[in-house]
Amino acid sequence: MKLLKNKRNLIILFAILSIVIVSAFVFLSSKQELTEISYIEFNKNLENGNIQSVNLTNKEEITGVFKDGKLFRTDNPRTEGFKEKLLNSGVDVKETDGNSTIGDILTMIVVLSAFSGLFYLVSRNSNKLAEKEMTKMSDIDGDGENSSTITFDDVAGNDEVKESLKEMVDFIREPEKYERYGARMPRGVLLYGPPGTGKTLLAKALAGEARVPFFAVTGSDFIQVYAGLGASRIRSLFKKARAAGKCVIFIDEIDALGKKRKGGASNGSSDESDRTLNALLTEMSGFKENQGIIVVAATNRVDTLDEALLRPGRFDRQLEVGLPDINARYKILELHSKNKPISKQVDLRKVAYQTVYFSGAKLESLMNESAMLAARYNDNSINMVHIDKAFYTVIAGEEKKDRSYISIEEKKVTAYHEAGHALVTKLTSPLNRVTKISIIPSTKGAGGFSMNIPPDKLYQSKEDILNHIMVALAGRASEEIIFGKDKITTGALNDLQKATDMLVSMIARYGMDDNTGLLNFEVLLGDNIGSSAYVVDRAKKLIEELYSKTLNLIKENISKLENISERLLINETMDEDELNTIINSAA
Ligand code: ADP
Ligand code: ZN
Repeated sequence: MKLLKNKRNLIILFAILSIVIVSAFVFLSSKQELTEISYIEFNKNLENGNIQSVNLTNKEEITGVFKDGKLFRTDNPRTEGFKEKLLNSGVDVKETDGNSTIGDILTMIVVLSAFSGLFYLVSRNSNKLAEKEMTKMSDIDGDGENSSTITFDDVAGNDEVKESLKEMVDFIREPEKYERYGARMPRGVLLYGPPGTGKTLLAKALAGEARVPFFAVTGSDFIQVYAGLGASRIRSLFKKARAAGKCVIFIDEIDALGKKRKGGASNGSSDESDRTLNALLTEMSGFKENQGIIVVAATNRVDTLDEALLRPGRFDRQLEVGLPDINARYKILELHSKNKPISKQVDLRKVAYQTVYFSGAKLESLMNESAMLAARYNDNSINMVHIDKAFYTVIAGEEKKDRSYISIEEKKVTAYHEAGHALVTKLTSPLNRVTKISIIPSTKGAGGFSMNIPPDKLYQSKEDILNHIMVALAGRASEEIIFGKDKITTGALNDLQKATDMLVSMIARYGMDDNTGLLNFEVLLGDNIGSSAYVVDRAKKLIEELYSKTLNLIKENISKLENISERLLINETMDEDELNTIINSAA
């Protein structure tokens, strides 16, 4: 398949090159043979019947061809009977509407060919970069059959996502079975998370495990095309897919065509993506349930997605594919070292430790760079020197905003910050669950996150809200206790937004503050509660009280905080059981 594709590429490239060369040749040779003749000479040749054809334009000069094939140029008389005179002399008259001469046309051909050649090369390269093995649009319009040979063994880490997708393998293989039980098969799965975390790989593995064809497209492919074409491409994609029977359809960068729609007014370009999106939604609700077709979409910005995509019967399964923690990194490194000669001195655990924030793709490229270095130096195997060098190459090649380098100091701050949240959650609201603590950033938090799931409740009590505010303040409080007042970081931005929001609501909307009473300030001031100096004063006083309460609570339990942070520094993530063990230990 790959070979065939390359061969086809080669043929196209060759064809373009030959057009360019031939046109350049014709153009240059015609230039050489174009002889300037005077109008008198021209008339003589005309009388002698030497002239085959003339290009009539309204320019100052005209061109033509002698009977012997040579080209000439002469002054344009621009008299009225000129054309008739030529015709009467048996000359072929070609009228171009004015501006182009043979030379112009040839120039145009040469330039156009050169450009299309260049464009082809550039787009081919960028496609290659974007996704090496991705079946491109042209393949879907073409053959389309593309069974993936990738399995879940090729994906390291991401265990929860893998579990969830494994269920679907069975759905695809035996939809009849599920139909018999009246179960509805999910139609769409949305994988979201940072780039390079293996979303494409997971989709391919799903197809590979189910042994069905894999169709892949990229959302942005649909947007760059002419009006109306995006929608028709969607339709033809699904037609192909249906013809294949069971299959996996993968849509990368779904956000490109499924962006949140802004109110009624929309400009032209978003009209176009609307149409494409609608076509997608129609197609998705069009195929029969239990047909064995699954649409997998990927995005790294789930928050910008149009809600229409997330409704039941569409992409109703949403799975986060996060950056790997230290254990997952180790497994990914192992996987990508399998077919490489690695020196016995290399400790992949240590490499995993040093590569915080690295995605799977970056780890893969780290091992690849290392292998290239070893090969360049003709060394017997990949050693730590190569890996260290490659590390900086990989980091250097990336933008600042998605840097994957975190200093040990930063890691420590994050660990204490997150430990603070987790500790105060467990101390203030033991019923609240902390499902996972992590110092790896995710879509939910910049530095890491600890997720609290309050037990199901219809209402929140004043106590709940106060506890939540303390939990939100605990990250900053813990930073201050460990590193000092001057070393606190901007990592608490989100926390402070949440705390302020909860507190102001408590005072000015829920009537929960004794000093303030039962007034709802929203009724008095509209959305602009914050413009009330009273509310601001009151909130300021209360948040100070809550903050010092939080500080005290952490200080009383400082050894637990230390324990949680130390474990986080080693493992980067912690589950609830381990957290409970530390919280319940006598210390
Ligand atoms: P995404 O679709 O999330 O941007 P990809 O699936 O395209 O990421 O990942 C690019 C490459 O990075 C993969 O082909 C693979 O070599 C490597 N990779 C990423 N994540 C993993 C993983 N979890 N296990 C093994 N390899 C991975
Ligand atoms: Zn925080």
